[in-house]
Amino acid sequence: GFQCGIVGLPNVGKSTLFNALTKTAAAQAANYPFCTIEPNTGEVAVPDPRLYAIRDIAQSKEVIPTRITFVDIAGLVRGASKGEGLGNQFLANIREVDAIAHVLRCFEDDDITHVDGAIDPIADADTVETELMVSDMESLEKRIAPLKKKATGGDKEAKAVLPIMEGALALLQDGKPARMLETADAEEAKMLQGLNLLTSKPVLYVCNVDEASAGEGNELSRKVAEKAAAEGAVAVVISAAIEAEISQLDKEEQEEFLETIGLEEPGLDRMIRAGYELLGLITYFTAGPKETRAWTITDGTKAPGAAGVIHTDFERGFIRAQTIAYDDYTSLGGESAAKEAGKARDEGKEYIVKDGDVLLFKFNT
Ligand code: GDP
Repeated sequence: GFQCGIVGLPNVGKSTLFNALTKTAAAQAANYPFCTIEPNTGEVAVPDPRLYAIRDIAQSKEVIPTRITFVDIAGLVRGASKGEGLGNQFLANIREVDAIAHVLRCFEDDDITHVDGAIDPIADADTVETELMVSDMESLEKRIAPLKKKATGGDKEAKAVLPIMEGALALLQDGKPARMLETADAEEAKMLQGLNLLTSKPVLYVCNVDEASAGEGNELSRKVAEKAAAEGAVAVVISAAIEAEISQLDKEEQEEFLETIGLEEPGLDRMIRAGYELLGLITYFTAGPKETRAWTITDGTKAPGAAGVIHTDFERGFIRAQTIAYDDYTSLGGESAAKEAGKARDEGKEYIVKDGDVLLFKFNT
């Protein structure tokens, strides 16, 4: 599955947040046994109200959400990129994940020491990012020399990827993350991804604010939002302390509590969805009397690939996909009504599945 790694300096609220996530996962596990918890990973359901709207229409017995995994990547130390034991492990762990949720301390609390003495989320973000950038620069420098030789020798692949590597390196030397590299087309974007650099992974800044700012955020989180916007990242506001409380409550108490503090939904739900979007993931649905189910695909996936998420046989024997857009499905009142209204399309192998599509696959066995 897709994994989002949680990183941040010490004392910013990572554990608090991760514990809230795993509590949520544990609570969900009662309903969805596939939501597993391991020491450092929490697999959580992606909250999606569309599931319930479809279920009500399809009269399904069960609802099965799709899920995403968060990994707690502890152990960031300054100088991680200098290859000291723990630091190395930290970077290796980041390399494994698809995206990074970077927790930034945006709350004041004199009782909780800040590693660098002052509350400054922008400086904190830079501290962490610098470690990642140094590591990327070293890795690129090591790879570029032998690649140049290959390119000179006429190796086509080397010739194609070399400018991407050099572009990324120049950017890093300029103090910018590799994800800011402008690629000409999908091919180049893929090559950049193939380099598996730490700073080319998408980043979600998680602004951990004081309880009172959980809704609107504060001065500090607004600075982070500006930074995120400028560098193609995303920011969410959350109060880890509140999330920790919410995760202890049952569903009814949660709703009451949220209303009291003026929040529409738990911050974690927003964070989970932001992580999902950050990963470039979209959801399609299947609906029947047994279950309404959400499935995850990468944006841009064609119908056979989407079918393959359910079962490889579906992909191999793919014939066509009956496709109803979510809005048509719900506004018309389900599959038969959509068919009558001519809103159930038969899509073939080249169809690019859209977020919210309700699909029924026809396939050869
Ligand atoms: P980590 O080192 O990043 O994992 O940080 P922790 O989750 O252990 O949090 C460090 C300290 O900050 C703990 O004492 C938490 O209770 C406290 N803390 C975490 N989030 C908040 C918050 O939103 N507000 C306040 N006031 N304290 C928090």
